[in-house]
Amino acid sequence: MTVNTEIDSPGKTETAVQETPTIRIAQEAAGTEAIRQETTGESVPFHVEDEETVFDLRELSCYYGDFRAVREISLRVARNKITALIGPSGCGKSTLLRSFNRMNDLIDGAHIGGEILYHGVNLYADGVDPVEVRRRIGMVFQKPNPFPKSIYDNVAFGPRIAGFRGNMDELVESSLHRAALWDEVKDKLRQPGTALSGGQQQRLCIARAIAVEPDVILMDEPCSALDPIATLKIEELMHELKENYTIVIVTHNMQQAARASDYTAFLTMGDDRAGYLVEMAHTATLFTRPESKLTEDYITGRFG
Ligand code: ADP
Repeated sequence: MTVNTEIDSPGKTETAVQETPTIRIAQEAAGTEAIRQETTGESVPFHVEDEETVFDLRELSCYYGDFRAVREISLRVARNKITALIGPSGCGKSTLLRSFNRMNDLIDGAHIGGEILYHGVNLYADGVDPVEVRRRIGMVFQKPNPFPKSIYDNVAFGPRIAGFRGNMDELVESSLHRAALWDEVKDKLRQPGTALSGGQQQRLCIARAIAVEPDVILMDEPCSALDPIATLKIEELMHELKENYTIVIVTHNMQQAARASDYTAFLTMGDDRAGYLVEMAHTATLFTRPESKLTEDYITGRFG
């Protein structure tokens, strides 16, 4: 299936006048030719060649100033699947994840080498609006971080900023439904989001991410601050969410990667402390028949 992707410049089309430079994914408008950036290097198919690709990383390196935290990673992320990034602490998983929605741009001195294609468009090309990128590619963090506002206003926050003019009550309700939180909060929407339990707060953050209708949800160790029951709920929720979204999750919990993901990428660190990709495969394959001794050592607890 082809997903048509365009990068618009202001004034180029009627839509662009209202939207500022933006990425538009017109999934329904099949047949329009995608505008693709010049790319370098061959993409590495790994095991996802039969799936529709959302992200295609081509020799991606991530730097903080002179320090290279991630070295020349090539991988693909498949649509409507859960891709887990695992590896020892400090090998660059979070850095890599943050590069998927240009979150690292907010860090002084952070820059990348190589390319990330998102539906075929170079995410870091001139004219791509990072704010729009972050709307399409939402993020949920390690520690639940609801705003000091009501449950309702937490969910309505993003749509309001984006100028949403539809029925906000419906949008809030459907977002909370999709985050499996509605039944627990429907009678207390005006209460502060911070008064919820940790697991509920994390689902509220997921509802907040969903409310702006993203395409991808990035999750950076979303369960590390949660108890096992709340963790299981988030994992069940991820399973439901992948029907509509593509999910990339960083987890230090290998059981979680094994239980919850479709694909797993194992990263480790070289002598230069730069993280690199050892292998990526179907999760079941990576955990039962890893190709690399490094992976085997890591998943059997001999390293990391
Ligand atoms: P992981 O998520 O695998 O634990 P990180 O992506 O957090 O790894 O970190 C990878 C490397 O990048 C580490 O050496 C870390 O110290 C460094 N790093 C992370 N964030 C920053 C930052 N904001 N500035 C400078 N170095 C950073």
